[in-house]
Amino acid sequence: MAKETYNIILRAIEEMPVIDTHEHLPTGVEESRRGEDILGEYLTHYLSSDLISAGLSADDLAKALDPSLPLMERWDLVEPFWEVSRYTGYGRALDIAVRDIYGFDGICRKTIEELDQAFREKDHDQHFRYVLKELCNIKVSLLDIDTGSCRVDPDLFRCAWHPEDYIMPTMEEGSSSIQRVEKAYGGEIRSLDDWMDAFARELDVRLNQGIAALKIGLAYVRPLRFEKTDYATAKECFASVASRRNQGEEGQWNLFSRELQDFMMHHVLKVANKKHLILQIHTGLQEGNGNTIANSDPSLLNNLFLDYPNVTFDLFHISYPYQGVACVLAKNFPNVFIDMCWAHIISPSAARQALADFLDALPYNKISGFGGDYLFVDGVYGHLYLARRNICETLALKVEEGVFSVDTAIKIAYHLLYENPRRIFRWEGI
Ligand SMILES: [Zn+2]
Repeated sequence: MAKETYNIILRAIEEMPVIDTHEHLPTGVEESRRGEDILGEYLTHYLSSDLISAGLSADDLAKALDPSLPLMERWDLVEPFWEVSRYTGYGRALDIAVRDIYGFDGICRKTIEELDQAFREKDHDQHFRYVLKELCNIKVSLLDIDTGSCRVDPDLFRCAWHPEDYIMPTMEEGSSSIQRVEKAYGGEIRSLDDWMDAFARELDVRLNQGIAALKIGLAYVRPLRFEKTDYATAKECFASVASRRNQGEEGQWNLFSRELQDFMMHHVLKVANKKHLILQIHTGLQEGNGNTIANSDPSLLNNLFLDYPNVTFDLFHISYPYQGVACVLAKNFPNVFIDMCWAHIISPSAARQALADFLDALPYNKISGFGGDYLFVDGVYGHLYLARRNICETLALKVEEGVFSVDTAIKIAYHLLYENPRRIFRWEGI
């Protein structure tokens, strides 16, 4: 590829504003970091999964995260696994962040102590905004909200809310999702009808709080195939769960049968279809170590795309390693879109190849080019650095092939990073 073509496109891309389709960041208000020190922050996720994959034990990872132990003792545990992981997308994103944000030549034995000091000394609240606004030029990020408040700083965020409590309730710290719902939205839940009413009430509240989308992450815990269950069967399933609760088994609430889960997923989508809502959905690789990858195959969602044409489906993470399937689905369905969030660091080369394929197979208004998907803000910078270059390199190759001009390449980059997510998520006035 001619270096000059690449450089012209990159200069333009570096100036572009970004709409970031997916983050797990702290809200930035009185809470702008995850860890007390650099290891606590940077090992919150992603890299830690590569370290475990490379052979670090779970016990040693827990020690490496423990701020009460001396930093170098923790570094000794991590170092052999970091050195073999640092060239993955996760590793590179952090080395890049450290270089550009703190001015250190990567993360290594020589730099870790000074880097830690620099991390501890900064004003975290100011740093948070500085990275997102000044360094990244992110206009707005779509923040993933599980059950917390969706009232966030509109200068930084919009929210995607998880309605999963209604599909697959859980127990956390001795309290069930259903107790949470009863307290906040439902009164006493005795039947499936009560349960659906509570969902309607919470959805209203969330819509009034200005959520931009719904989010489903169920591929972490079950297959994405949701069969149709009739109302009578679902009502019976719910009654049997409720009767166990009446016998004092609150823990049984998280035991929604597959049929009941399927019914509630279709119910959520029916409502979303009526209200023309947007659904972000996790497909492909699950973060962490040890899961069932086949659960996340986007072809399992095919029936939902057919049944709910007014729902906009935003397929996360290019469905990697099912990016070819995601591409076919987005090509086939006007209501299915591809979201490259997380993808540029899962594998930078897979992201480039996938984008080259998407641009050959899909109208380019079907693709959102970036979502940081980070828990901590420095990672967003490293990820966006790689994403801008992945997009640039892919477009420059197409220019070399004679598919389009440099000017068109720049226009497409602008759509991927800004215009497409702005339109798909219907964000007027940004
Ligand atoms: Zn995520």
